[in-house]
Amino acid sequence: MSRKLGGNILVTGTNRGLGLELVRQLIQVTSNKDHIYACCREPEGSGAEALRELANENPKRITVIKLDTAYESSISAATQALGERVGTCGLNLLINNAGINKLHGSAPLSATGGCGMMEVYQVNVVGPFLLAKHLLPHLKRAAEQMSLKHGGQGGHMSCRRSAIINISSLLGSIEKCPENFHIAPMYAYRTSKAALNMMTRCQAEDFREHHILATAIHPGWVQTDMGGKEAPLTSQDSVQGMLSVMSSLSDKDSGNHLDWQGNSIPW
Ligand code: NDP
Repeated sequence: MSRKLGGNILVTGTNRGLGLELVRQLIQVTSNKDHIYACCREPEGSGAEALRELANENPKRITVIKLDTAYESSISAATQALGERVGTCGLNLLINNAGINKLHGSAPLSATGGCGMMEVYQVNVVGPFLLAKHLLPHLKRAAEQMSLKHGGQGGHMSCRRSAIINISSLLGSIEKCPENFHIAPMYAYRTSKAALNMMTRCQAEDFREHHILATAIHPGWVQTDMGGKEAPLTSQDSVQGMLSVMSSLSDKDSGNHLDWQGNSIPW
């Protein structure tokens, strides 16, 4: 993979699953000058051992930042910590990866209450919304840096320049629902990812003038705590695919929902 990703990159939910693998592979596909801000809820906790090890092995490339996306105060503190480190270079890539599907396995109507619904929305929709809102000045700064390099011209959008990637799901596709509802009757999760897709579309429209790209990516059905052991894809293959897709994104992809192989997913 050519070096089409780089600069300052922030990923949420990096202590396990796809987030941890994203940090592992980002280190490999970016250069020594690039930096990964790996966010997780409890950096000192027992669930973040693998991330701490990775950060210790790459002290100049990875900074672990405490971030619970369910709380705006935590988002605010993480934004400040990032701002102090990136300065005028800004943030090139925000990957909103953290997500929950509160009830393991299927979560049918009978097992879904108002509180569970709100909890899933908080992490899967409100968190990514607030994080992008708080980080917007840093994303704008990164986009402007590239404009300066192009003599003040707008230039193209890309994940190297300034972008928001929202990790979504095929289960958020309204069109695909009749095909897969019976396998995964998850009201909270499905509706939250459909909302995340709309949010991506709004961000694409809103931030285009600042040359910030916004795309939703479905990672495939992956062997993680969330995906379960029976999933067909390893996190290594999923992340390799997603990073390759991110590397190739340009103006035409902003506001779209793609899968880990770059195929378009209907709304
Ligand atoms: P995992 O359950 O394996 O990991 C979820 C990650 O999100 C963990 O690091 C977890 O941290 C973090 N997280 C959860 N809540 C919060 C929060 N409030 N603040 C910060 N971090 C939080 O899931 P995956 O790695 O499989 O999923 C990653 C993304 O991919 C999700 O958005 C998911 O919806 C999406 N996806 C996954 C699929 C799959 O098959 N695996 C399929 C389609 C989409 P902690 O350890 O602290 O809980």
